[in-house]
Amino acid sequence: MSFRLFAMPVLILLLGQVSGIFLFVWSSHVEAFVLLDLAITAKLISLMLWLGSLAIGLSWLLMRLKTLFLWKKRRLYGGCVHCQGALSHHDDEHGFYSKCMMCNARHY
Ligand SMILES: [Zn+2]
Repeated sequence: MSFRLFAMPVLILLLGQVSGIFLFVWSSHVEAFVLLDLAITAKLISLMLWLGSLAIGLSWLLMRLKTLFLWKKRRLYGGCVHCQGALSHHDDEHGFYSKCMMCNARHY
């Protein structure tokens, strides 16, 4: 149905979580005393990456769930002429166009 609606929040969430955990695990294996500052910095960055992606991804996901809920209840007045769904706007070699996030219809 509406894969497009949840693709970006889930992508942000997954990339942030995986890279944050990867960086944290990598920085735990640094044993040389010279690199200790680097390891601590990497741990701080990984923690911020993890928390930031969690906050941004989850809040974006909740907003998209609210959009889906409103659309299901027929209280969303989007620009799609087929289903009243919300539109995302794009640009390619053929010019500007909008794509419905609910039914994937293109509007030129
Ligand atoms: Zn539509």
